[in-house]
Amino acid sequence: MTPRLIKITIALLFCGVIILSGCAAQSTELSFEAMDTFMRVKLFSDNGESASLKIRAETERLDALLSTADKSSAVRALNEDGSLQNGEVADLTRRTLELCGSTGGALDISVYPLVEEWGFISRDYKIPSRERIASLLEGVDYRSVKAEGELVTLRPGMKIDFGAVAKGYLADRLSAVLDEEKTASALLNLGGTVYARGKKPDGSRWTVGIADPENSADFMGSLECEDRVVATSGSYERFFTGSDGRLYCHIIDPKTGYPVDNGVKSVTVVCESGLKSDALSTALFVMGKEKAAEYYKKNGGFEYILLTDKTAYVSDGLIGDFNLARTASYEIEAIR
Ligand code: AMP
Ligand code: MG
Repeated sequence: MTPRLIKITIALLFCGVIILSGCAAQSTELSFEAMDTFMRVKLFSDNGESASLKIRAETERLDALLSTADKSSAVRALNEDGSLQNGEVADLTRRTLELCGSTGGALDISVYPLVEEWGFISRDYKIPSRERIASLLEGVDYRSVKAEGELVTLRPGMKIDFGAVAKGYLADRLSAVLDEEKTASALLNLGGTVYARGKKPDGSRWTVGIADPENSADFMGSLECEDRVVATSGSYERFFTGSDGRLYCHIIDPKTGYPVDNGVKSVTVVCESGLKSDALSTALFVMGKEKAAEYYKKNGGFEYILLTDKTAYVSDGLIGDFNLARTASYEIEAIR
């Protein structure tokens, strides 16, 4: 755990589950650490206590299934053995591979050996040699990952990870939990991936803040939304300064093997599907602003905000829902 995570953990120890009654539906708040981040959940439900227990259990189940850091996880076993029999992982692999394909490989779950080599897993950061990058890149190709029935197989030496989609997939799973628990109104902040379910108890829409990449504790703007997952990929989330003085972020361009350095500071994708929001936030970040706009115009089915140093590129369907913070100095450019 990083010192920052320790401080937040201590603060959250005093939170646990808080149930506030008095309004129409009870309000239940829950905070906990999972998937290497902090989850903050707010539910308006008469089943708040049981719903929050199930949310936590489902999150921990998925963390244990998908985490590459967890020695006993299913994905770790897949990477070690080259194959895995698991219906849920096979299904997630199939759906993620479709998004790898539709994004032309900007999203590629097999880029994991490079994520590891740059030190983004161990936090022991380093700039690998050109030769090492070229040799690891030879093994990167999501088309060599196969998911047939309940069986996932990898080409020898290949390793995959679901880091780019796990929180979005979690949002979809938690939506099913909240269906079962008959909870219509909730705001789930899954470490930057936010699921806004239904409306607030007062009938208004949820307001979701968009982090300012220059100071991620601040918001550069906010979005009004309802029944949407809002996933953000930002270069500020995890990065290091190399011995050459340059910043290297945790999102790798699968074509070059190097951390993305295309002027994009963050991409927020808004969509009904959490898996798709999370996958596309990572993929549009890799594509850069021109290709991201082309992808949006060609495919649709989602909305996005892409931030560079000075400009917020806001897709058509979000223009009316996005509010720039008064203190923020971005120019807004609509993507139609
Ligand atoms: P996100 O924060 O959702 O953009 O996911 C970033 C995480 O996904 C990184 O920490 C890596 O584990 C992994 N990753 C990095 N680059 C890629 C990529 N191009 N395709 C798929 N996964 C990636
Ligand atoms: Mg993502």
